[in-house]
Amino acid sequence: MIEVDVGLDLKSFKLDVAFGDGEGITALFGPSGCGKSLTLGVIAGLRRPDRGYVRLDGRPLVDVEQGVFEPPHRRRIGVVFQDANLFPHLSVRQNLLYGRWFAPKGAERLGFDAAVETLGITKLLDRQPARLSGGERQRVGIGRALLSCPKLLLFDEPLAALDMSRKLEIMPLIERIRDEFHIPMVYVSHAVEEVVRLASRVVVLQNGKVKKIGTPNEAFGADAALEDDRFERASALKAVVGREDPVYGLTELKHPPGSIWVAGAVRPAGRAVNISVRASDVILAVEQPKGLSPRNTLAGAVLTIEADGGPTVTISHRARRRRAACRDGDAQGGRRTRSEVRESWSSP
Ligand code: ADP
Ligand code: MG
Repeated sequence: MIEVDVGLDLKSFKLDVAFGDGEGITALFGPSGCGKSLTLGVIAGLRRPDRGYVRLDGRPLVDVEQGVFEPPHRRRIGVVFQDANLFPHLSVRQNLLYGRWFAPKGAERLGFDAAVETLGITKLLDRQPARLSGGERQRVGIGRALLSCPKLLLFDEPLAALDMSRKLEIMPLIERIRDEFHIPMVYVSHAVEEVVRLASRVVVLQNGKVKKIGTPNEAFGADAALEDDRFERASALKAVVGREDPVYGLTELKHPPGSIWVAGAVRPAGRAVNISVRASDVILAVEQPKGLSPRNTLAGAVLTIEADGGPTVTISHRARRRRAACRDGDAQGGRRTRSEVRESWSSP
């Protein structure tokens, strides 16, 4: 449990943030320069705040008024940066063991083999960091942080420098760490899809201040304040991994109003996942579309149309719950799905 209430005055920039974490991952989200990394730096002990405190499980890591400042290496916090910052002269194995060196004696130790296995880096142990790809370096960086037996993990845009394929490989690892190791995490990102997929709470920062704290839907969905950048709007959906279609390389994500098929493999079946649907990726049609490439079609109703005098409007739309999908959570035969969708579209 982390509690943060700090201020920092850098003359050209003032930081003033307060939040606590709950279950799972807390995301710090906001545009470049809004104070995300400064906030992580204060939590990690890399920066001293001018006022306030950071508490971890009730223990003050820094408390300006009480004159408390725990040095970074004593905080039991693992940090993963955008660049994994591995020691170039040490092998992967030595880098990983270096993290473990910080685990206090008697601390419940995470097994080296278990961490290496989870992160898929068994074959890399004797390599030097210079001979790793960006994605591999990041896996090792995460492993090093994990093996220090942290009470809190901090991620500062860990995927920002990776291409989409590598991102899609690393995100499930972060989900596994979240679900299997139960270590609280604060995850900094300005990518909506990462935040929706990983986080249960979002702290939205703007100009060094907390603008909003809420679920991903509250932060990015239809209820997000109108002055928000509309291109950031997205819906956070909860789904369950379903079947795979090996012919087209798709995976079904079961969601009550209808299954959503995504490219690639998502495993294992039955696992709960969060997905983001960007508003700018949605196409509206008044009838079942024909001759178009979108593979996912959901029936629904327009709720609101927000116009601000500009050339575009923001439309909120609610997908209808399909009876067939709700009964057993599985997508029934395609014919039934199609007829229900048609029925919904033609209803007033
Ligand atoms: P981001 O949200 O992109 O991670 P940062 O937390 O790194 O943003 O930085 C927030 C603001 O603080 C930026 O305007 C940055 O220029 C400023 N800043 C960061 N470090 C310093 C510093 N050491 N001295 C003065 N200003 C700084
Ligand atoms: Mg930053």
